[in-house]
Amino acid sequence: MDKEYFNVSDIFGENVFNDAVMRERLPKKTYLKLKETIRLGAQLDLETADVIAHEMKEWAIEKGATHYSHWFQPLNGIAAEKHDSFISAPLPSGKVLMTFSGKELIKGEPDASSFPSGGLRVTFEARGYTTWDCTSPAFVRYDAAGATLVIPTAFCTFTGEALDQKTPLLRSMEALNEQALRFLRLFGNTTAKRVTPSVGVEQEYFLIDREMYNRRKDLIYTGRTLFGAMPPKGQELEDHYFGAIKERVAAYMRDVNIELWKSGVTAKTQHNEVAPAQHELAPIYEEANVAVDHNQLTMEVLKKVAGRHNMYCLLNEKPFKGVNGSGKHNNWSLVTDEGVNLFDPGKDVHENTQFQLMLIAVLTAVDKHAALLRESAADIGNDNRLGADEAPPAIISVYLGDQLSDVLDQIIESGEATHSIKSERMDTGVNVLPDFKKDAMDRNRTSPFAFTGNKFEFRMVGSRDSVGEANIVLNTILAESLADICDYVEASDNADEAIHEIMKKLATEHERIVFNGNGYSSEWVQEAARRGLPNIPSMVEAIPALVTEESIELFERFNVFSKAELESRVEIEYEFYCKRMNIEVKACIDIVRKQIVPSVISYMTKLAESINQVKAASDKADTSTAEGILVQISDNLALAKERLDVLEEMDVKAHEFIKTDEMAFFYHDEIIPVMNSIREPVDKLEMLVDKEAWPMPSYGDLLFGLY
Ligand code: ADP
Ligand code: MG
Repeated sequence: MDKEYFNVSDIFGENVFNDAVMRERLPKKTYLKLKETIRLGAQLDLETADVIAHEMKEWAIEKGATHYSHWFQPLNGIAAEKHDSFISAPLPSGKVLMTFSGKELIKGEPDASSFPSGGLRVTFEARGYTTWDCTSPAFVRYDAAGATLVIPTAFCTFTGEALDQKTPLLRSMEALNEQALRFLRLFGNTTAKRVTPSVGVEQEYFLIDREMYNRRKDLIYTGRTLFGAMPPKGQELEDHYFGAIKERVAAYMRDVNIELWKSGVTAKTQHNEVAPAQHELAPIYEEANVAVDHNQLTMEVLKKVAGRHNMYCLLNEKPFKGVNGSGKHNNWSLVTDEGVNLFDPGKDVHENTQFQLMLIAVLTAVDKHAALLRESAADIGNDNRLGADEAPPAIISVYLGDQLSDVLDQIIESGEATHSIKSERMDTGVNVLPDFKKDAMDRNRTSPFAFTGNKFEFRMVGSRDSVGEANIVLNTILAESLADICDYVEASDNADEAIHEIMKKLATEHERIVFNGNGYSSEWVQEAARRGLPNIPSMVEAIPALVTEESIELFERFNVFSKAELESRVEIEYEFYCKRMNIEVKACIDIVRKQIVPSVISYMTKLAESINQVKAASDKADTSTAEGILVQISDNLALAKERLDVLEEMDVKAHEFIKTDEMAFFYHDEIIPVMNSIREPVDKLEMLVDKEAWPMPSYGDLLFGLY
């Protein structure tokens, strides 16, 4: 179908064991049982699982599958899988049967000793268990390995402690469901049975030529460039943003879409982003757990398809210094099984008390747990992005826009809102263009947490990271504020009065989290400090938020994390930080010693020889310019080398720490500045030596090399 045109609806979901397939292939009783589990979280028995496993296997084999794989997200952020073929022990005839039992569907037992557990699993107890998550559909994946039935699973220890993002995410969804139903009952809704968070993840990425990638050791080892002088052109013209998509990239996007559509991912929007070579892909939102899995799958597909097109997809949050980095916008809303979006203000927001209270519940949650929310987006690569010019600042605040801010002010003033700012009609002044009603609020691109019509958009998550953690936090903190509100109102004799009281109280207490101005400005940093909002610039400083007293109490109250699980996550994050920093340091040393220093020395030798030749040819020739350049080169080389020696000493010192948090802070506080100080003379050297002599492709080559 390579260059043919096709109808998306013919291929959409064709590799997915979705509802239509289940309805067709499963016995009615089994189908209904499974649906009940998916919809209402009922337990699934082994007998039913056996029937499902059999049908799933038959279906997958018809699609050419030879293997099945329990697919899970361990805490290093990279999806992991273990493949087993369907074959059983040979029959007396010498043939084999293809089998797949309910037990194999439900439970996997990967040797998990090398996945991070942060001390939860003692080394001799290497077992970890993967458990089928029937709420996220299985699918068949095609690649060089052939066809594989991929089964989304949760990953836990023998005693049920979570070693992944999915388990706590599902727990947080349960907690939010319970509290949101209570909340709905306050407003007289007796019919809704389930409330689920919906998530739509906009994914940014860079695309570069594979051959150039192969010549950049820093990209290969660390995912980002450690060196690179700015090219003559960056993103200042903003001509890339929403610009026409180059043919080579368009062909890639087409294949990405086809693969995603077949796997049931609703890839919807694609465009060029602000930085050269940067692009974005967004699907249509869906139930949070599936959206998180689908984002993970999307990242895999982006990488895989790039390889087929002889390109490389960079998911690092800041692959290039000096141009925009990549993030992920986590669009989040709350929907009932009756199809009502609880974040939708409706036509007349001032009359919609239920929405107002929900809004205030969100503000309360975000204000109380700003540090925790910030932590959920903490990632080593994101440290290079957050707080830089283009990305949300590291300070959490909420953008509401004029209309909702006005309603909030009225509530603070008098306990209720009586009017709201109306949206205007858009008038272009041209008759042939249709007029339309403008949104009541404009957009604010600088806010890390913005209300955008009927959803909140959390923009802090990095492009490489799972959105799992961010959604775990969002769901749990909202569950808490809803629970507190319900506790208060349910205990009162007059619910209506109680609702207005609590609304006014919470709005007043937490209004400080609302900020509609420019989040990139330095005034905001000061203003935020004045308001007492936390400003947490780095991952190492963010991690402790996971185990503050409030966080432990919050997560334990809603059974999302135990204290031991939180402590293990802290350990894992510090460890992960140190490991990645160690790679960056080693890569830096390796590149400078083995590539840059030798190249520069041989260029200097060549330059010196040329100077001597010119001098020999004529003693009147002026070689002072060339000699000046030679001196500049030699000075910068000396500086780079001197600082590299310091880095090497510090690298040795880093490994002397026993406690990972101390080691992480050492990397952050002491080593990063030294690495940056090496980059400075190296980038100058790149501008001083002949392009041909530089041992790797330049920023210009990488960013503008795709035609
Ligand atoms: P933007 O203008 O920010 O790009 P879009 O309307 O294109 O906004 O949506 C961006 C993402 O938000 C998409 O993935 C979209 O499906 C998702 N989205 C839209 N509405 C909702 C909602 N109610 N809940 C969650 N996500 C949503
Ligand atoms: Mg957006």
